[in-house]
Amino acid sequence: MSYEIIDHESDVVIVGAGGAGLRATLELSVAGLRVACVSKLFPTRSHTVAAQGGISAALANMGADDWRWHMYDTVKGSDWLGDQDAIAYMTHEAPRAVIELEHYGVPFSRTEEGKIYQRPFGGMTTEFGKGTAQRTCAAADRTGHAILHALYQQCLAHGTEFFVEYFATDLLCDESGAVVGVLAWNLDDGTLHRFRGRRVILATGGYGRIYFSCTSAHSCTGDGAGMAQRLGVPLQDMEFVQFHPTGIYGVGCLITEGARGEGGYLTNSEGKRFMPDYAPNAKDLASRDVVSRSITLEVRAGRGTGKNKDCADLHMEHLDASVIHERLPGIEETARIFAGVDITKEPIPIIPTCHYNMGGIPTNIHGEVLDDEQGALREGLMSVGEAACVSVHGANRLGSNSLLDLVVFGRAAGKRCAAVLGKPASAPNPSKASEEFALSRFDETRHASGGVSTSELRLQMQKSMQDHAAVFRTGEVLEEGVKQVTQLAQDGLKDVSVADKSLIWNSDLMETFELQNLMGQALATITSAHWRTESRGAHSREDYPDRDDENWLAHTLVWLDGKWESRFAKRPVALEPNSSAVEGLLSEPAEQIPLKARTY
Ligand SMILES: Cc1cc2nc3c(=O)[nH]c(=O)nc-3n(C[C@H](O)[C@H](O)[C@H](O)COP(=O)(O)OP(=O)(O)OC[C@H]3O[C@@H](n4cnc5c(N)ncnc54)[C@H](O)[C@@H]3O)c2cc1C
Repeated sequence: MSYEIIDHESDVVIVGAGGAGLRATLELSVAGLRVACVSKLFPTRSHTVAAQGGISAALANMGADDWRWHMYDTVKGSDWLGDQDAIAYMTHEAPRAVIELEHYGVPFSRTEEGKIYQRPFGGMTTEFGKGTAQRTCAAADRTGHAILHALYQQCLAHGTEFFVEYFATDLLCDESGAVVGVLAWNLDDGTLHRFRGRRVILATGGYGRIYFSCTSAHSCTGDGAGMAQRLGVPLQDMEFVQFHPTGIYGVGCLITEGARGEGGYLTNSEGKRFMPDYAPNAKDLASRDVVSRSITLEVRAGRGTGKNKDCADLHMEHLDASVIHERLPGIEETARIFAGVDITKEPIPIIPTCHYNMGGIPTNIHGEVLDDEQGALREGLMSVGEAACVSVHGANRLGSNSLLDLVVFGRAAGKRCAAVLGKPASAPNPSKASEEFALSRFDETRHASGGVSTSELRLQMQKSMQDHAAVFRTGEVLEEGVKQVTQLAQDGLKDVSVADKSLIWNSDLMETFELQNLMGQALATITSAHWRTESRGAHSREDYPDRDDENWLAHTLVWLDGKWESRFAKRPVALEPNSSAVEGLLSEPAEQIPLKARTY
C-alpha cells in the first residue's frame, strides 16, 4: 500500500459546504483565519438547496410575535427533550440571523409594505400556544436555494479556499488524540489529500438515506458522524427521526409544510378532513410527528386513499391560483413531474417519509463536540448543522427551525473557533498511527472483492430500517431489526465488493465509503430506539405509549465499538434556560417552560 499524499495546511478545516458549513466558513474567513472548506458536492448543490418552506424568526412582520413564544413552541415541539438554554439562544438570535441573511443578499418574499413575508408553519403559535403565528420567512418555496447561493457568494467575496468534489474519508488525530485534520479523496483525479488544521468542523448534514423512503438527497449519508463514530465519539438522540407527513407517494419527494401553511389540508378515502379529530386546535398544522402518526392511523383503519389504500390526499385545488404561482411555484412543478398531478385541479397522494435527523454528534452551543455524558470536550473537533445535535430539536423538530439552526450555530461555532485560535498559526501533524488507520481503511475498501454489491447491501439495510424503525415501533419489531442490521454491518460489510478498483471516476468506491457511514448510523438509530422504552416526540413505541419523564427525560448517548456493538449512557437535558452556557448572550432572561402533556 503506497499512496502519494498531497498536503494542505490551514487554521480550520471545514468538511461540508451546506448552510451550516458555509455559515461557519464565512465567520472564520471574515475573522482572517485560513479556512479550507472541503465538500464532496459543489457547495450550491448541497442538500440545503432543497429546503423549501422557510426559516423561522419572531420578526412580527405579520402580527404580534415574541422570541419567547418561539422558544415555547420549540421546547414543546421537542417534547421537552431539547436543551432549554440552547433553544433560548437560538430563538433569541433568530431575528438577527434572518436580517443578516437579507443583508447577505437572500431575496425574501415581501409583504405589500415591503417587509419580509412570513407564513404559518406547524407547531408555531403566539401567546404560548393560544394563536397561530406567521413566523416562517420564505423566499417563495426555494428558501434553502436562496440562502445557499447568498452564503457561497459571501464566502467567495472573503477569499475562502474551497476544495470542491473532495470526499473526506477519515479524521486524523495527533498523539494526544486531538483532531488535527482529515484524509480526503479528490473525486476529479483520484489523488489523496491530507488537510491539516488546528480545528476540524464537521458540517456534513444528515443521514436520511438509512431509510428506503426519504426526502433527503442521495448525498445525505452522515459521513461526518460516521468518521466521529470511528474515533470513539458518541452520537446523541439517534432514535429521534422525523417522518414528514407529506412526501409524494412512491417517490419520496417533499411537499413543504408551507403548502398547509398557505391553506392546504388532508383528507382520507371518505373525503373527510381527519386532522381535526387528532389535533382539534392546530388541525393540519399540528407538529409533524402528530400529523404523520394520524395519517398512519387512518391508513391502518382502512381509510387510506389510492389504489392500495395506503396514503392520504393533500388538497390545494381550493387555493387561489395566484397564491400557488407566487408562493408555491416549486411545489406545483414537483407535483406535476413526480406525481403527475395538477395541484390547481386535484389532490396530491402523500405518505409519511423520513425527512430529518434530530440526533447527531453532541455539541455545546459553540459547536464544540461533547465526548461523554459529563460533557467533556473532544479536543480539536467541532460540528454544526444536521450532522450535529446541539440539541434544539429534541425529540421532534419544528419545520423551519433547521435552517435557523444552521445559521445561528454555524455563526456561533465560527466565532468560538476564531476566538480560541486567535491569529493564523501552523497546524500540528497527525500521528503515524492515525494516518495508517485512515490509509489502510481506504486501501482495504478500494480493494474489497466479496460477494455482495454495495447497492444490494445498502438496499437490505434501508429495507430493514424502513420495516423495523419507522413511524410506529415495538420492542419485538425493533429487536428483529437490530439483529438484521447488526448482521449486515458485521458480515455484510466484510463481504462487499467494489465494482471498479481504479481511483478515478469510481462512484462505487464512494458509495461504499458512504455505506460504511450509513451502517454505523442505522445501527445507532435502531439500537437507541430499542433502548428507549417510552414514547416521546417522533419516537413512538406502541408497547410504551406514554412519555416517561421519571426515567427518560435524558439524552441518549450511543457508542459503537469495533465489532459494531452498542453501548449507551444518558446525559441530562438542560431544563434551565439561563444556564451558564448562555451567560451574557440573552438580552433578557428566558422563563423556563415547565413540563406538561404535549397536545395540539
Ligand atoms: C426536501 C427537504 C426540504 C426541507 N425544507 C426545510 C425548510 O424549509 N426549512 C428548514 O428549516 N429545514 C428544511 N429542511 C431541513 C434542512 O434543509 C436540512 O436540515 C439542512 O439543509 C441541512 O444542512 P447542513 O448544512 O447541515 O447539511 P447539507 O446541506 O446536507 O450539507 C452537507 C455538506 O456536507 C458535504 N459532505 C458530506 N459528506 C462529505 C464528505 N464525506 N466529504 C466532503 N464533504 C461532505 C456535502 O458536500 C455538503 O456540502 C428540509 C429538508 C428536506 C429533506
